[in-house]
Amino acid sequence: MKAVHSQHVSLQGAAFWKAENKGLAEPRGSKALGESAERSSKHNRQIAMAIPYWEQWREAAHQIKRYAIDHLDDLLVQFEKNLIARGCTVLWAKDAAEANQHLLNIVKEHNVKTVVKSKSMVSEEMEVNHVLASVGVKALETDLGEFLVQLAGQRPTHIVTPALHLSASDVGRLFAEKLGEPYTAEHEKLTDIARRHLRQEYLRADMGISGCNFGLADTGAICIVENEGNAGLSISAPPVHVALIGIEKVIPSIEYLPQFLNLLGRSGTGQKLTTYTHIVHGATPGRKFYVILIDNGRSNVLKDPAARTALFCIRCGACLNACPVYRRVGGWAYGWVYPGPIGSILTPHLVGFDKAGKLPFASSLCGACGEVCPVKIDIPHQLVHLRHRAVNTRSPVRSPLERLIWNAWAWAMRGPLRYQLTMGFVRLGVRLAKFLPFHPAQLGAWTRGRELPLVPSTTFRSWWRRHGKRFEQPAG
Ligand code: SF4
Repeated sequence: MKAVHSQHVSLQGAAFWKAENKGLAEPRGSKALGESAERSSKHNRQIAMAIPYWEQWREAAHQIKRYAIDHLDDLLVQFEKNLIARGCTVLWAKDAAEANQHLLNIVKEHNVKTVVKSKSMVSEEMEVNHVLASVGVKALETDLGEFLVQLAGQRPTHIVTPALHLSASDVGRLFAEKLGEPYTAEHEKLTDIARRHLRQEYLRADMGISGCNFGLADTGAICIVENEGNAGLSISAPPVHVALIGIEKVIPSIEYLPQFLNLLGRSGTGQKLTTYTHIVHGATPGRKFYVILIDNGRSNVLKDPAARTALFCIRCGACLNACPVYRRVGGWAYGWVYPGPIGSILTPHLVGFDKAGKLPFASSLCGACGEVCPVKIDIPHQLVHLRHRAVNTRSPVRSPLERLIWNAWAWAMRGPLRYQLTMGFVRLGVRLAKFLPFHPAQLGAWTRGRELPLVPSTTFRSWWRRHGKRFEQPAG
């Protein structure tokens, strides 16, 4: 099984396109992923369409998130105050490095040697496993999908179903190779094996790390949803619990929670409700509870009024499943933590346009993502907005050659004479191209797989001058 190192792939320059081509060269993996995404998407649509007031739910969730993001400063202060009142230690981190430093301090203070971790996309941003390993702490992923990709030495390919690209037989081979288990492709037996290997780890672990789906400002509680029971065990069995929370996860009140729970399960996995919904109301006696509130670029999204709604995302993954580009290239092609349409919006903000400015172009703009988003983020328009930003900032998105070409095009389009002159040169160029000593495919990705068009022997204008009379309407 091919290992993709858990360290994040560099997003420099044209990384997406290279990674995309790599995905295209691996038809088996791509096929499994495409089929799984299509199945999930279809299932989720059926579930949603069975609700007559689905659109009202989406609109209500959109408005609640709008309020929360517009009042984020006040809500975060309220959330912190209420968390502290419940015996929680709250730490703030402006970026992943600071969050990791807080985490390492906690590890040191409690002499932590082993960690069990439930699913958390923020922890992927921080590369927590890698950081903990660097100080000799073993962190074990307990979500089944995360456990599989950790075992395979890969990175998650989807934000909800990290091992979407692995078939049951892939998992059987992985368990045989890494855990020494007899090969099986039966789902029940595979989950039994995973359970057997994970169960003891909860009891041995010194610390549990979780993410958070919703922070409830009015009560200072955090809500975590899951299907396997692993998050519940990770946060309750070890003596220390650390919750890593992106600052955009706060909603004003527990009163609004059902609204999101209704949408999240249906959009994410096609369930009416996830199997477990944990609401953590502070530290239990004798145990320590830390919350690390992490910005890591989210303020950059807040600063851009046209992009703000990207912070409404509840990480359901529906836009990934619906996206024809994601289905074809998979999650790794996006080069960082968040793949698919929402990744193409968030990543440039979180890691910088110079590194990820190409991602908004990784879309056909078909609009499927916007239609399925349960919080009504207008993803296609955001992508267009970011494309505009990317080409208007000095970033590797536009090479000097591309700038030159577009400037020349703009010049040529400013008058009929210029246009005719330019087209004359183009026609000549295309004719001469066949005498080049190399194939034009070597010029780059655009010409790869494309043939030069045949040039007609005459232009339309001169053809019309000679034959146009035939089409004139007879007078009267
Ligand atoms: S952008 Fe919308 S559809 Fe995509 S993951 Fe976020 S909430 Fe789900």
